[in-house]
Amino acid sequence: MTAPQNQNPLPTGNDISLPWHLRLPKPLEKDFRLYFLASVSKVAPWALGLVSILIATAMLIESWIGTDVITNSWRPRLFTLMLAGGCVILARTLQWREWLHPATLALAFAIALTGNYLGVHVEHPLSYTFFLHTPMSIIMICILVRVPFYSALLSSTVMIGAMVATLIANPERTPFEATTLTMVTLAFASMSLFGQYVYERLLRQHFLSEHVLYQHRNELHSANLVLENQATVDGLTGCINRRGMESRLNHLFHLHKQGNPDAPERISLLLFDIDFFKQYNDTYGHPAGDECLKKISNVPLSMVQADTDFVARYGGEEFVIVLTDSSFNDALVFAERMRNRVEQLGLPHSGSRVSQVVTISVGVSCSDHGASNSAELLKQADEALYQAKGAGRNRVALMNSQGLVEMLS
Ligand code: GH3
Ligand code: MG
Ligand code: MG
Repeated sequence: MTAPQNQNPLPTGNDISLPWHLRLPKPLEKDFRLYFLASVSKVAPWALGLVSILIATAMLIESWIGTDVITNSWRPRLFTLMLAGGCVILARTLQWREWLHPATLALAFAIALTGNYLGVHVEHPLSYTFFLHTPMSIIMICILVRVPFYSALLSSTVMIGAMVATLIANPERTPFEATTLTMVTLAFASMSLFGQYVYERLLRQHFLSEHVLYQHRNELHSANLVLENQATVDGLTGCINRRGMESRLNHLFHLHKQGNPDAPERISLLLFDIDFFKQYNDTYGHPAGDECLKKISNVPLSMVQADTDFVARYGGEEFVIVLTDSSFNDALVFAERMRNRVEQLGLPHSGSRVSQVVTISVGVSCSDHGASNSAELLKQADEALYQAKGAGRNRVALMNSQGLVEMLS
């Protein structure tokens, strides 16, 4: 036999095709920016460290070449070094991180523009290489630090425009040099921008996959909560069902026995059963019996207060109330008040042999009276309830510390 085929496989991020222009719907685009920034800020300090080493190395070479070169270059170099340091601080400080990209672009502009400016003013064969700062800056923002593709494209265009303007404004540079520089710069820029485009495309696809997975996880979590709720809640009365009661009670008892600081000092258990309920069904019908169960379960539900106290439907028309930390006397007061309130509801019950209205019998036990586990506690309450029934119903009976059942008259 083959396994059943999954009719609707869960979508993955790869099912969503990214448009060529990379843009995502607005709310996703905003989230992606944060995701991009978080991923960039991890590598940015290293990349900026590398840029700083390059700047410092350039200074060293310039000082070897001649004092006239370093005299002109040290100020702009120092300025760009300080800017790189500022960018590192932004990358490492969470609340300033959003400024990392504008600051990186400012650094790239500073490197490119001061390089062009120095190429014009330094009277040295080396001045030619100063113009290579523009492609270097573009490589920096696209490959090393990485700024968003469209910011990189725009700023690269401006940087190349500035470089070309500088070359045109200085006609003493041969047309051949200017053309070569421009072509080399354009080649570097297009390769770097293409790399940045591919990288950002992959990163966006990855972001979408993670986003879809995150949504599935949330949906699964909510579905789990619903199932868990359905598995432990009684559909008719909204009380915890027997399975839920057993696991809660066992857990409470376990904590209590361990002497855990969060554990209740004592656990009191009230077990009640509706009197002559079979006759109620026979007289008024099963649907009316169900309504009666709902009304009666609302009485203890409206009375429990502490977070750890709860009401459970133990069986057909038997309910358990667990009270934590109340004294045994308080538990008895609770039981008597509950019995009285049920009677006060005044639900007519002509089939009952003890009253004109629906009544309950209650058995009460307490962890202080020798029960070593939750099953024993339940057994004691059941024994007390049995005797309450035998003693005429519509009453509360308790299991005392000597293991004897007493009626609460
Ligand atoms: P006693 O006073 O001795 O408790 O008498 P009783 O007639 O109540 O006896 P018992 O507790 O044994 O009867 C349980 C009855 O509860 C049997 C069944 O018809 C009824 N019952 C159990 N579950 C449901 C339910 O979900 N809805 C309705 N309407 N009746 C239920
Ligand atoms: Mg019963
Ligand atoms: Mg009954």
